[in-house]
Amino acid sequence: MAELLFDGDLSLLRDLTIAVIGYGNQGSVQAKILRENGLNVIVGNVRDEYWRRAESDGFKVYEIREAVRRADAALLLVPDEVAPEVYYSEIDEELRRKSFFILDFASGYNIAYGLIKPAPSADVVMVAPRMFAWGILERHRLGLGYPVLLGVAQNASGRAWDYALALAKGIGAIGLPGGAALKSSFEEEAFLDLLSEHTYIPLLIASIIAYFEVATKIYGASPEATILELYASGELAEQARAMAEEGLIEQLKHHSRTSQYGQLTRIRRYYDVIREIVESEADEIWSGEFAREFAEEKYSGMILMNRLKEIFGSSDLVKVERKLLKAIKEGKLD
Ligand code: NDP
Repeated sequence: MAELLFDGDLSLLRDLTIAVIGYGNQGSVQAKILRENGLNVIVGNVRDEYWRRAESDGFKVYEIREAVRRADAALLLVPDEVAPEVYYSEIDEELRRKSFFILDFASGYNIAYGLIKPAPSADVVMVAPRMFAWGILERHRLGLGYPVLLGVAQNASGRAWDYALALAKGIGAIGLPGGAALKSSFEEEAFLDLLSEHTYIPLLIASIIAYFEVATKIYGASPEATILELYASGELAEQARAMAEEGLIEQLKHHSRTSQYGQLTRIRRYYDVIREIVESEADEIWSGEFAREFAEEKYSGMILMNRLKEIFGSSDLVKVERKLLKAIKEGKLD
């Protein structure tokens, strides 16, 4: 079994200045929890709305280069696709002047694909939350931790794993009920993260769209009832929660026998086709083909992604969904 760890030593970070670079989803949440844990946190951001937000949350905010200059550790919490540019324009030079530094990532992508090659004097660690930022905050308010994957790409100090664990504790992931840190690597994290994004999540969404089209256009079901059945009731989210808490198959006990029979027999029916899709996607990720595809897309100004967002975002399903969700929220129909 992979090594699971449940606590870290915060005292390793007490005398350090920690710069949170990027005050977005993860940055704003991680900065606040680190500060609550008594650590010395500053924020590095470009001068805009997020800068002002960090200031109004009571942080000292600096240009990214200046924040790194003042810090002993940095959490690079900008979107993965801009991180290489931010690293090479603002961080690398500062890091090369320091004999000790901890550079922390929340995802493995840029190190795994060699898009960032940090200065050798730095410890390069990964503390990757398996959770959206709002989920982290919600759990933190309840006094709960959350799961993270840890990685070490450079161990210049010889204590990089200890620092990774200390950071995991600092951001409220471990040392609390429900928290766990699993020893992993940048490569494993990037692979697993991309494989979810390329297989079961789009397969689920594609199934939902196909179901909607067939049920409403061929079988005359009402679009509203169909969307409620599919996901708007929240039952799907409850099922996902039961999987996390009770187990993938064990949670089936909450369903009727008709449902259990239907689900189990159809899992068997689809398995071979899905397995082929997963293998082919895994191969694209492992070989670096997807990273190259995405680099080209980024270079082109994200034309394909924006076009697809428009197409899917203006579908019949989305139009009905908007009205339905609004009516449910407000308790009235327009
Ligand atoms: P966000 O999109 O929320 O980050 C936005 C931050 O990055 C803002 O401070 C923004 O500043 C800054 N930023 C964006 N573009 C630039 C740029 N060109 N130059 C300088 N700063 C820039 O990111 P997330 O919090 O979603 O992701 C951060 C990391 O966390 C990623 O590695 C991601 O993979 C990882 N992660 C994210 C999760 C999530 O919940 N979203 C879950 C687990 C891991 P401004 O807008 O002011 O320019």
